[in-house]
Amino acid sequence: MQVRTRFAPSPTGYLHLGGLRTALYTYLFTRKNHGVYILRIEDTDQERLVEGATEKIYRSLRLAGLDWDEGPDVGGPVGPYIQTERRDMYLPYAQELVRKGKAYYCFCTKEELAERRAACEAEGKTWKYDKHCCSLTPEEVQAKLDAGVPYVIRQNVPESGEASFDDVLYGHITVDCSELDDNVLIKQDGLPTYNFANVIDDHTMGITHVLRGNEYLSSTPKYNLLYDAFGWEKPVYIHLTPVMADATRKLSKRYGDPSFEDLLEEGYLKEAVVNYISLVGWNPGDNREFFTMDELIEAFSLEGLSKSPAIFDKEKCRWMNAEYIRRMTPEAFDEAAGPWYEKAGIAHMDRAILAKCLQPRVEVFSELPAMVDFLTEMPEFSDELYFSKKMKTNAETAREDLPVILDTLEKLPAWNEESVHDALINLAQSQNKKNGVIMWPLRIAISGKAVTPCGAVEIAVLLGRDETLARIRRSLAALEA
Ligand code: GLU
Repeated sequence: MQVRTRFAPSPTGYLHLGGLRTALYTYLFTRKNHGVYILRIEDTDQERLVEGATEKIYRSLRLAGLDWDEGPDVGGPVGPYIQTERRDMYLPYAQELVRKGKAYYCFCTKEELAERRAACEAEGKTWKYDKHCCSLTPEEVQAKLDAGVPYVIRQNVPESGEASFDDVLYGHITVDCSELDDNVLIKQDGLPTYNFANVIDDHTMGITHVLRGNEYLSSTPKYNLLYDAFGWEKPVYIHLTPVMADATRKLSKRYGDPSFEDLLEEGYLKEAVVNYISLVGWNPGDNREFFTMDELIEAFSLEGLSKSPAIFDKEKCRWMNAEYIRRMTPEAFDEAAGPWYEKAGIAHMDRAILAKCLQPRVEVFSELPAMVDFLTEMPEFSDELYFSKKMKTNAETAREDLPVILDTLEKLPAWNEESVHDALINLAQSQNKKNGVIMWPLRIAISGKAVTPCGAVEIAVLLGRDETLARIRRSLAALEA
């Protein structure tokens, strides 16, 4: 059997991390089984649509490396892959259910429903549709249809008995039909609800395995009543536990939790986020943590899926991102850091030196500009920065040493890492001082910061001769004032 799966997002915003994980697990499962991965856009809830959201989904999925074999923009044999473009397909199926007594036309108005609901709730009962229109005769229904009375089509759920299904992760799930509502299948606007479209589409697209969030766990028995009514084979269901922000709540944009693209904008590497999110709710069965996409495909199995909710730990994600940065080739680092160098105004500086200083230290690229802000603007600083217990330096020693350092550097014929380094080391040796006694005050004098991601020599070369000498002169003047 050819495995066919789908990722079926609703275009209601951005790809949140829970959605990314569902898309990823579906992708891994599919690739592992040499199946076909389908993207389907579920846009039948017109009120929740957000302009541009579909394009955002495409972009996020592609950035994550999750390419689909069939979908809206790539086509395929069972399209269209956008539900509103399939709108004419659903009504005949609903009518077939009506003929079979598994669905019925409902003409109740919003006002009537609200009134009966209020009465029901006033008695302390939970409202579900009271099957009012289920008892209309075929003639009554036809007369209303002929008169153009607006209608919906509802599923006719049995009033007693049980509905059930088997989930790979959750096992056998059973619900009492008496607890199920007669959901709307076709809305007044002629579009199907999710409840109906997911069944029709999964069947007509030949979906064999459904991976989705566990919020659908309790409605799936109802969907299976539809499969049974049509006499269709059901897909294998794998409902995933939610991605949590902490022990009590799901990850959610409403609480400011980041989406996939938010993390990329913050300077996380897409490979690192994908790697990290793969482990939020799945365990490879050994203690490996670092995976390329190919390695994930190789290692992935449904048995490794967690049965309890998993927490997205941003600190852990950050740690993994830092590891990814450290493992990059110098070329890859330079390319990834490039836009952040631009932001920081240092893109023109010596890139090899920047990489040497920053690659071991940056954990998330967005913090890079603040780490190097002193390169573009010398901050105000206090003389106390010259104090180092270890080097035995302070403002006094700096006042003595900086003029000699300045003199040495002014005389340098060439300005590069080697020449600046050697000149300063020679100076220290000739004065019988430790290197640090020279390097420390120089670094302070040209950076104005107690902590910098690079040493005095690197900073001097990054700044260039003129700026370095000008900074030393200014700092010296400030010390002497
Ligand atoms: N459109 C649904 C959602 O975004 C998909 C559910 C499913 O995969 O069946 O949650």
